[in-house]
Amino acid sequence: MKRNSINIAGYVDIDRSLWNRQIGGVSVISPERFFDNYNPSNSFVLTASVDKKNAQIAEVLERNGWRKNESFSDIQKFNPFFPTVEITGICNLRCSSCIRSDKNIIGNGKYMSFEDYKKVIDKLIYDIPFLYLVDLYIWGEPILNKDLPKIIEYNKSLGVASGLSTNLNKIDNLPGVMAARPAQLRVSVSGMSSETYDLTHTGGKWTKVEQNLKVLRELRSRYNEQTNVEFYFHIYKHNIHEIESAKSLCREYGFRFHPSLAILFHDFVLDYRKTGMLNPNAKAAADLMVLDIDTLIDDCDEYSDKNCILTRIIPTINWDLSVMPCCTYTPSLIHSNYLACDFEELMHLRTNSRQCSDCQDHSLHRWNDQMRYSTLVTEIASGSAGPDVASV
Ligand code: SF4
Ligand code: SF4
Repeated sequence: MKRNSINIAGYVDIDRSLWNRQIGGVSVISPERFFDNYNPSNSFVLTASVDKKNAQIAEVLERNGWRKNESFSDIQKFNPFFPTVEITGICNLRCSSCIRSDKNIIGNGKYMSFEDYKKVIDKLIYDIPFLYLVDLYIWGEPILNKDLPKIIEYNKSLGVASGLSTNLNKIDNLPGVMAARPAQLRVSVSGMSSETYDLTHTGGKWTKVEQNLKVLRELRSRYNEQTNVEFYFHIYKHNIHEIESAKSLCREYGFRFHPSLAILFHDFVLDYRKTGMLNPNAKAAADLMVLDIDTLIDDCDEYSDKNCILTRIIPTINWDLSVMPCCTYTPSLIHSNYLACDFEELMHLRTNSRQCSDCQDHSLHRWNDQMRYSTLVTEIASGSAGPDVASV
């Protein structure tokens, strides 16, 4: 908003612990104080939460006389796109669910330099003036990139949050990364012991991750807990019994527990749909999925008339500046250089890409729809799932 010369009067939040605090020099107030002091004739509200909560906030505003698009709007109207930039074309693991497990699908790339990243983010802001978040990973481990602290700092200077996800097995660069105080860091895990984690985070070692989580807690506290750490727990059949231990670690370390249903990456599923054969590298993960691949595909077919769930993830920029149609399939190009292409043209190229039509022909634009399984995930995570799930 500052980049676009729009002055924010204040944040409104229901979280009492934030009231009367300043964030970036802007005060946070309660909804009550907001309704006492502001009205639709003297203010404009932007709702900035997840879709479901934005809808709830909209209802409250409408009950109090605000009108959609006249006196309030969802912030995503200003910024409908979520770019992803692969700053590290390398990963140190070979998770069975991921295309990294098969080097015939994807091999190691290189690092994006800070100099190249700077040009990319400058153009992204030109293309998307209200850009506020960029994910810095696709199939790479972002914290392996030595330039990451500089990248985070530069993003912050522009008012752009950096989205990070790590497997936390190799943490040489973590002190510098945490010193740069990224807004959020996701740690992706699939178990709380060597027996479970090492099986599905192939090549990773739970013993290392366990130690590295302690280092992460210490670094987070050194920098005043300014980074939200999300403990992203992939639920497989073999790790359901460890969910309580994951929750307890999160409580102790101040991390946010985020369970999700473990699911194979798209390439494996597209191949399975076309040939009826599953890539052997994906078998370990497929055998342990809570819902089997055929059930998940049936669910996609049922919703195939709906839009792609990744429509807004654009552009997807690889470490070598090439642009891909999608953040979840093997690299295939719609342009060789993001810095040299027009954004409108890019959207056209994506919409008409062979990758997207092939994917939609097989209903896989609805694959990995985590929202659809949120009730099941909540039940499993709270221990109230049915006996067939609870006993696996
Ligand atoms: S899922 Fe992540 S950590 Fe695992 S191999 Fe793929 S990119 Fe690496
Ligand atoms: S249609 Fe398929 S390939 Fe295209 S963006 Fe959506 S998920 Fe990716």
